[in-house]
Amino acid sequence: MEALITLLPGDGIGPEVTSAAHRVLKEVAQRYGHSFEYKVELIGGAAIDVCGDPLPDATVASCQRSDAVLLGAVGGPKWSDPNAAVRPEQGLLKIRSVLGLFANLRPVSVIDDLIPASPLRAELLTGVDMIVVRELTGGIYFGEKTRSETSASDLCTYHTHEVERIVRVAAQLASARRGKLCSVDKANVLETSRLWRDVTDRLIRDEFPELELETLLVDAAAMHLLKRPRDFDVIVTENMFGDILTDEASMLVGSLGMLPSASIGAGSRGLYEPIHGSAPDIAGRDIANPCGSIASAAMLLRYSLGLNDEASAVETAITRAIASGARTADLVAADESSITTSGMTDLIINEIS
Ligand code: NAD
Repeated sequence: MEALITLLPGDGIGPEVTSAAHRVLKEVAQRYGHSFEYKVELIGGAAIDVCGDPLPDATVASCQRSDAVLLGAVGGPKWSDPNAAVRPEQGLLKIRSVLGLFANLRPVSVIDDLIPASPLRAELLTGVDMIVVRELTGGIYFGEKTRSETSASDLCTYHTHEVERIVRVAAQLASARRGKLCSVDKANVLETSRLWRDVTDRLIRDEFPELELETLLVDAAAMHLLKRPRDFDVIVTENMFGDILTDEASMLVGSLGMLPSASIGAGSRGLYEPIHGSAPDIAGRDIANPCGSIASAAMLLRYSLGLNDEASAVETAITRAIASGARTADLVAADESSITTSGMTDLIINEIS
């Protein structure tokens, strides 16, 4: 197949891990006979440095023309003045909104060989395999904000159609997996959560009666994620709860550097990025873990291009490279040896079959 992919390397380790994922995509295209064209564009601090705008028009135009977008990370100390008029994160929020990406998918699958890298006990982790689906464009992060000398407020609003479309995405994923959906809210105190729960209950009853629906309050969900992580298949939740729970869930896997994410909307175009940030403390040293970015490229193949076999081949290659003992510095103790970003990428490419 033919596809146009925009690469947005961004800042810090973004260019290093995006280049690793780009190499993997080129290998997949060659092995499976696809023709992928790439456009590299600016975002974040790198874009501010060149043109004073964290999301230049040329970047937006390229993303809108593309079948999919692969992003590295944005931000860093150089651009972190809280009083600055333009900030790198504005580029990320704007591109998600321009592309209408309302669902953020974060798979959390524990690789057995990495269990020692997690702070949790091994017997809790074997077999953990879930996807957290976070609503991305509504809720308290986007509501009206007010501030006076002595008070402040952030408005949290959800509309029925916003809940319906995200729950549908999660329910479709659950239907294709183990058939279990867990909806997380705070319906004992929040009106938006009571709407969320009503809409979810009705939609699952009417459209997905075969699914097993569990409903948890967010405080209990935070506890159950650590107590019985294996039980979860697909979790769906609103924007802020999802933001917090996905970072908690990432610790099940052992390193931030392992985890991918996909942001998708109504069509097939999506934006794919590792969940970590720009890691300025290790940037430019060829030591970042590229697995999160490479696994994001696998999600791109699956969700935007419909190439399921190719996506699985990349995911299997990551698992095999880890099983062969390959470890970047974030996955070992300080006195243990590790390999570079490019070394890990070479091994993963060798394992693609
Ligand atoms: P971070 O994720 O960049 O780093 C946290 C820690 O994890 C650091 O010690 C870092 O070295 C390590 N780490 C992260 N990714 C790694 C990888 N692939 N391999 C090995 N180690 C890795 O978070 P932070 O330090 O809080 O933020 C740094 C900058 O990134 C900030 O400017 C922040 O705003 C930005 N940020 C961007 C995004 C994004 O672009 N989506 C997300 C989070 C943070």
